[in-house]
Amino acid sequence: MKKFIEEFKAFALRGNVMDMAIGVLIGGAFSGIVTSLTENVINPILALPGGARYSFEQIYTYGANFVGTIINFLITALILFVLLKAVNKMLTIGKKAEEPAAPTTKKCPYCCSEIPIEATKCAHCASELPKE
Ligand SMILES: [Zn+2]
Repeated sequence: MKKFIEEFKAFALRGNVMDMAIGVLIGGAFSGIVTSLTENVINPILALPGGARYSFEQIYTYGANFVGTIINFLITALILFVLLKAVNKMLTIGKKAEEPAAPTTKKCPYCCSEIPIEATKCAHCASELPKE
């Protein structure tokens, strides 16, 4: 069960899955804008030549609906942005903990082979190494 959770975490936190989820959510919110634009702006304007007349209250309602949808979209985008930033931060914290930074090997100045950092004599060319 623990392995399952770890695998799921690795899957869900992978960058492209997050990107995809955000794409779906932004897409949903954006389609709301398109629908609202059609219902509250384009359709009422298209009805004008057909003899439709609007009261000030109706125009106000249409405008408020449309602006509300845009504000919804902006809030959704903002929340997703903050969420993504938090997840990215979590991911970098996890990575830093995994990396042991201290080097354990060095290069021999004579033959350029990788040798243990504490060596005083090169294992490859047998040169005496200068003390550091
Ligand atoms: Zn060497």
